[in-house]
Parts: sequence; C-alpha cells; structure tokens
Amino acid sequence: MIRFLFLIVFGYIAYRMLKKVISDKIVVIKKFQQPFEQHSQEEELLEDPYCHTFVAANHAYVRTINGKREFFCSQKCADQFILQQTQP
Ligand SMILES: [Zn+2]
Repeated sequence: MIRFLFLIVFGYIAYRMLKKVISDKIVVIKKFQQPFEQHSQEEELLEDPYCHTFVAANHAYVRTINGKREFFCSQKCADQFILQQTQP
C-alpha cells in the first residue's frame, strides 16, 4: 500500500516537472514574439508639424523645439519649421 502511495506522489512530481518544462517553453516562445510587438510600436506614425504628412517614428527627423520633441519627414521640413518658429 505504501509503495502504491509513493508511486502516486512520484507520478505527481513527474507531472509537475513536465508541466514546468512545457510552460518554460511557452515563455521562450513568448519572448521570441515580443520583438515583433516592440517593432510595430516603433513604427507608429507621427505627424510632421510643417507639412502635416505622417512619418514612421524610426524614420523621422527629430528636433527639440522649445523643449518639445517634433518629428519631421525630412531635414528640409525641420529647418523650415524652425525658421517659421524663430521668425517674429
Ligand atoms: Zn515634412
């Protein structure tokens, strides 16, 4: 009878270990999927305040104007916008 109980306990531990290994693998899969989610967040569109076209955040020209970060589609737009801001 004691041997039978031991078998159940052993079987339960083996089952728990197996479950842990499987859940670890799922965590690894989730870790692999994360970069894709982060990548899509990086490609959010931001409005160019000068020509009002939308530009991907990782391709935008960033300028800090009066302490505010502005995103531009090109160097030209950034320069023109700064000129516009500094003019009286
Ligand atoms: Zn522009």
